[in-house]
Amino acid sequence: MKVTHTMENGIEIEDYVISKRFFRDRQKFNFGNMFGIRSKTIKELQAKIRNGQLTTVPLEKCHICGGRRFSRIAAYDRYGFSVDQLLCRNCALVQTTPNFDSESMSCFYSNYYRSLQEGLEEEKGFSRRFKRQVRNGRKVFKRLSGHLKNVEECKLIEVGCGGGGIVSVFADHGYSIVGYDTDNTYLKYGVDKYELPLINSLAPEQPEVLYDAMILRHVLEHILDPKGFICGLKKMLRPDGLLYVEVPGLLAVNDGKYDFDLMKYFVIEHVSIFHLANLKSLFEKVGFEMVEGNEDIYAIFKLAPKATTPNKINTGVAESVLGELMIAEKRYVENKKSITEIEKSD
Ligand SMILES: [Zn+2]
Repeated sequence: MKVTHTMENGIEIEDYVISKRFFRDRQKFNFGNMFGIRSKTIKELQAKIRNGQLTTVPLEKCHICGGRRFSRIAAYDRYGFSVDQLLCRNCALVQTTPNFDSESMSCFYSNYYRSLQEGLEEEKGFSRRFKRQVRNGRKVFKRLSGHLKNVEECKLIEVGCGGGGIVSVFADHGYSIVGYDTDNTYLKYGVDKYELPLINSLAPEQPEVLYDAMILRHVLEHILDPKGFICGLKKMLRPDGLLYVEVPGLLAVNDGKYDFDLMKYFVIEHVSIFHLANLKSLFEKVGFEMVEGNEDIYAIFKLAPKATTPNKINTGVAESVLGELMIAEKRYVENKKSITEIEKSD
């Protein structure tokens, strides 16, 4: 029998067990190095959360649809942090609770984020990260450049540019592009080493120029109020401007992303995990329409010519997404079994 819990803040949560492993502390990030810097970072963070030096806030309502009914699909993240993963019963957005409050979040990003992600000494981590950004930048360029006007006329901006690997790809093709990020250490790496036009700040609230396109790659899943955030960014675009977005796509797990391992999506700093339909619905709510996109998620949006009513979320989407996740989990188990068999026969 399913039991629904009503939390202090009124949200309703019912456990939905895709696999028991998502409810066990033993499940830890199992690719890459779990020793050294990463393990030290995890211990430090856990201690700071325990003793209240880092403070968290519980989810109040769904970040996209405002819904207050959820299925809890996991009780830990991939590093073993005790954070719940809740799937909205209305729009199927997966959301972490609790999240760091904004002060603790900036402490987390300045002091822990990179070592948790990379598990490497800073300098080594930067050069590896930059190379990866350039590789991803080439993909972004391939998808976006066909939609852009002449190189000479086009002004671009990347929000959350890090060290500027993506900025460098567009700059090499002759585009005028600027990058913004608040991670000054990594940003400085791009400025000092590659002389990139990067600015250590949040995106300006009152922009002096309007841009033809904005790139937002692996940013939105970290934002506490995605709707408010996109509303702010919208002011920086020309009326015919484009917004290129990439986020981890929940349903890509069925195509073999992360070796079908759903657990790898669950990370303490990911506020939201989207699938294409709810990402589209989020952008429609703030006045955009989708030009193209896929489930592994990249999507290009343009400003809608006039106010449109967002498409209704299909009823039953939560059940159908949960069904997809059950299939992915079966594939994960089969995949793991066959790997073990191959290893045994070697
Ligand atoms: Zn929702």
